Amino acid sequence: MANEKIPYKIYLEEKEMPTTWYNVRADMKQKPAPLLNPGTGKPMTAEELSHVFCDELVAQELNNTDRYIPIPEEIRTFYKMYRPSPLVRAYCLEEKLGTPAKIYYKFEGNNTSGSHKLNSAIAQAYYAKKQGLKGVTTETGAGQWGTALSMACSYFGLDCKVYMVKVSYEQKPFRREVMRTYGASVTPSPSTETEVGKKILAEFPGTTGSLGCAISEAVEAAVTRDGYRYVLGSVLSQVLLHQSVIGMETKAALDKYGIKPDIIIGCAGGGSNLGGLIAPFMGEKLRGEADYRFIAVEPASCPSLTRGKYVYDFCDTGKVCPLAKMYTLGSGFIPAPNHAGGLRYHGMSSILSELYDEGLLEATSVKQTDVFKAAEYFARVEGILPAPESSHAIRAAIDEALKCKETGEEKTIVFGLTGTGYFDMVAYEQFHNGTMTDYIPTDKEIAESIAKTPGIQ
Ligand SMILES: *Cc1c(COP(=O)(O)O)cnc(C)c1O
Repeated sequence: MANEKIPYKIYLEEKEMPTTWYNVRADMKQKPAPLLNPGTGKPMTAEELSHVFCDELVAQELNNTDRYIPIPEEIRTFYKMYRPSPLVRAYCLEEKLGTPAKIYYKFEGNNTSGSHKLNSAIAQAYYAKKQGLKGVTTETGAGQWGTALSMACSYFGLDCKVYMVKVSYEQKPFRREVMRTYGASVTPSPSTETEVGKKILAEFPGTTGSLGCAISEAVEAAVTRDGYRYVLGSVLSQVLLHQSVIGMETKAALDKYGIKPDIIIGCAGGGSNLGGLIAPFMGEKLRGEADYRFIAVEPASCPSLTRGKYVYDFCDTGKVCPLAKMYTLGSGFIPAPNHAGGLRYHGMSSILSELYDEGLLEATSVKQTDVFKAAEYFARVEGILPAPESSHAIRAAIDEALKCKETGEEKTIVFGLTGTGYFDMVAYEQFHNGTMTDYIPTDKEIAESIAKTPGIQ
């Protein structure tokens, strides 16, 4: 059998690593909707965006035309410390499931930050340094992005100020200490350090915070300090661009063995890993060169694609950021407190939103107890302890492989294993103790939250 020649892990050689990122917007006939200035309702200009973001990143954010963007040598050097990441053939999982499907996963958890986020963190830190800035501010939820950014900033000698969602700050002290080890300062959000933080605290006393709220604080902290800019770990088109390194490597590894995937699956929070993983494959689909099924997997407790609305919305609770057209649950939406699985952002990348709206991307939602069942199953069979976020993709990949078992189809399934779950043991503990519950928001709750979007189509 030809497949016997395929190793457990397909590694690329250093010289086979991508030298460019791939910008899927260049191949989209219908471009993602532009960011709007919430004051004027007009598209944000580069000048306006440059108060918040680094200049080069603004250029990337607005670049809908260049298909390939060279990866600067300094970033490639850093990538070489932990990339290429392996593409693993899940032989053990296939055998255990008894499926004729061939399953591969691209594993992004092999770096200290434990996730794919480092791919964009290092790019954003590099451009900040190149611009001569003193430092950057950001938000972090579960802590993966903050950790990745701390690593990247310490590499380039930049100051790093992280607003961490309060509930995570309290529940994940180890994450916090990893960030501090890399020299970042970490503030629980909402805080009294910013005007918007004080306002949110006054309005919702005792709130344990949300990503949308931490974003508002980090943006305010950046624009009110000289030599600082704000950086974001997902959602933005520039982040999807940087994450295309995942898809470029995956494609190069598959091409080496002449493998053509049928289905490509990724978990979707703000959309960066999924957008990056599928990018070059989506490019082929958009250009009519090949066809694939792409599946975004989101939590049933925060279902922006499957139950949200495609409208302009605020990216943050404090409404300080530009408006983005995206599938959204409303910027005030906060998943129920029993939700432990990450992927809790209220909106979705405008690139993925547009692709989904055009029917080029499918989406499905999964319940967290089912996600943790898949996580545990995967850990026992493949050995890796997956992040809860990544386990959404595992769940969907297993479900697709089980469908193949019924139909006898030998489909090739590729999924993104975005990270490891070592800092998520409180959630695993709840699962093991049987205290983990599912909460699915009602139509009424979602409708009420969506009703508060600004009403621009
Ligand atoms: C942040 C994160 C995600 C979700 O973010 P996306 O931008 O949707 O990719 C998924 N997996 C892990 C491990 C993460 O840290």
